Amino acid sequence: MRRPGAIWRELVKNLRRKPATVLYPAERLEIPENFRGRPVFNPATCIGCMMCVRDCPAKAVKIEKVGEKKFSCTFYLDRCIYCGQCSDSCVKKSITMSHEFELACFDRSTLVDTKKEDAQAAK
Ligand code: SF4
Ligand code: SF4
Repeated sequence: MRRPGAIWRELVKNLRRKPATVLYPAERLEIPENFRGRPVFNPATCIGCMMCVRDCPAKAVKIEKVGEKKFSCTFYLDRCIYCGQCSDSCVKKSITMSHEFELACFDRSTLVDTKKEDAQAAK
């Protein structure tokens, strides 16, 4: 059983420590280089191999053909678990994990993120 004075010793010890948290959003911590934020698609290099779709554990990626050798990509960010598997699986490095993490919103439909080259370029 703990002695009653133990809590005071613990309190005094912690009063001298720096806080482990920061006053977000006024203060921000540096984001680590390998942080996995919102996935980003580069349509210029995608070959439509579908490895990202096959390997996504959350079924959060959709690749669609939009023209001759042109593909669009949709991320369902409300389902995405930010694991980075799509990026790891992509042989053409068409998907990268950004450092963007402030994705909270009131409208879930805004979390459907589609990227493709413009229609003229896709022809
Ligand atoms: S794995 Fe890469 S190249 Fe293949 S469809 Fe997905 S984004 Fe495109
Ligand atoms: S980061 Fe993970 S969950 Fe999100 S789209 Fe890529 S593979 Fe799917």
